[in-house]
Amino acid sequence: MEENKMNNLTLEDGSRIAVIGGGPAGSFFTYFALDFAQLFGTNISVDIYEAKNFNKVGPVGCNHCGGIVSESLVQMLSAEGIVLPANVIRRGIESYTLHMEQGTTVIDTPLQEQRIASMYRGFGPLGSTDNEQQSFDQYLMDLCQKKGARIIQEKVLDMEKEPDGVIIKTKKSADKKYDLVVGSVGLNPRSFQLFKKIAPSFIPPKTTKTYICEFHLGNEVINEYFGNSMHVFLLNLNNIKFGALIPKGEYVTLVLLGAEINKQIVDSFVNSKVVRACFPPGIELKSINPCQCFPSINIKAATSAYSDRVVLIGDSSSSKLYKNGIGAAHITAKAAARTAIFEGISESDFRKTYQPECTALNRDNAIGKMIFLVTTIIQKSSILKTGLFRMIVKEQHKTGDKRRMSSVLWDTFTGSAPYTGILKRVVNPLVLAALIWNIIVGIFNPITINKNEK
Ligand SMILES: Cc1cc2nc3c(=O)[nH]c(=O)nc-3n(C[C@H](O)[C@H](O)[C@H](O)COP(=O)(O)OP(=O)(O)OC[C@H]3O[C@@H](n4cnc5c(N)ncnc54)[C@H](O)[C@@H]3O)c2cc1C
Repeated sequence: MEENKMNNLTLEDGSRIAVIGGGPAGSFFTYFALDFAQLFGTNISVDIYEAKNFNKVGPVGCNHCGGIVSESLVQMLSAEGIVLPANVIRRGIESYTLHMEQGTTVIDTPLQEQRIASMYRGFGPLGSTDNEQQSFDQYLMDLCQKKGARIIQEKVLDMEKEPDGVIIKTKKSADKKYDLVVGSVGLNPRSFQLFKKIAPSFIPPKTTKTYICEFHLGNEVINEYFGNSMHVFLLNLNNIKFGALIPKGEYVTLVLLGAEINKQIVDSFVNSKVVRACFPPGIELKSINPCQCFPSINIKAATSAYSDRVVLIGDSSSSKLYKNGIGAAHITAKAAARTAIFEGISESDFRKTYQPECTALNRDNAIGKMIFLVTTIIQKSSILKTGLFRMIVKEQHKTGDKRRMSSVLWDTFTGSAPYTGILKRVVNPLVLAALIWNIIVGIFNPITINKNEK
């Protein structure tokens, strides 16, 4: 810290921070940096540069995402003063419905309290007219503005590093110099090139293509066919690691995660018997599908996501594999803010205090990879799937804490718990023995398990 002060690599009264990207990572960083600075008695200013307008419908105002916020994150945010208002939450999800070729079963929240929220990152799909609702990302940016941050609705086009700061260039505003630049640009390849100029060792994260689309069905049909349940599919279809239908207001969002999802893979999923059975009979899905996209997802963390006066956070740095990216953005943003305010803004400060949080996420993702590998094996084996299905259906007779496999699946699908904890619960001898027993019974007694059999 003393050495940094001499090199001016600490934030002091009057220091200026530029946050490039007003998604969750950028807003969380701003929120905590302003909070910590106030605690520390340092008077700093923060400008958030955001290219999109989250008050617009469709792709121009959207940060493509399934829009699930786990209950653990909802609770953590509320303890930190970020209470999600009712008009940001499009639906409270109370159960998930697991669909396999073997059958369908509804699994209530394991402890009857772990509810999750579904929301839209932007204003909603193309054509949506519900003016009462609010975008999640806009809500977070508004919070930052209330705390004193300035929102600059512009794309950053260039950056230049000088010994005493970083110059930010946009199309309309005059060039501005900042003491610290925070990269919360998601997975934007052009913005990564800008950051490579000011943080030369930075290697961007690896990504793969996913799929999201919206189906407009109206409230009544959604209540009847989907309810307050996230519908999750474990089907024997190539490339798909996770498929879900998530009800939100008048829409249902389809999310497909896996390896390089393309149109063919999407068609194989949407046209499968199991998926079609979730929708009203005879409905032409293409005619009620106003929005679709193939966004990238972070599947391997960035390297050296920091340099003197520069730090990258959220998807641009380390995320959680396939799940709870917003929760991971919260972790990296808070760690970077803590480092910047309490330690300093040199490369070595970020390496010492910020990197360990990223490393912990990366280690957990290594376990996550294993879990998804096992899930893929199960997906492809009807014997294993029948055993798993039997076990889950039977567990619904039991009290919450005894529904061990259901809670493992809940946490895997929603991203509510670290992968390491999930693995520990799976290798519990009681869980393994019950699974093996159900697999054996399933082989010798191939009865049909009816929907919601208890
Ligand atoms: C298919 C899919 C489903 C997902 N589902 C979920 C889910 O259900 N729950 C969950 O928690 N996570 C989910 N995620 C992950 C989640 O979307 C991300 O982890 C999260 O958005 C990361 O937040 P971020 O702020 O780092 O980046 P982003 O949300 O991508 O925000 C980056 C922002 O930076 C702005 N920007 C970029 N470059 C510039 C520039 N040069 N100038 C100005 N602004 C710029 C962009 O406009 C954008 O607003 C999903 C991801 C995918 C792909």
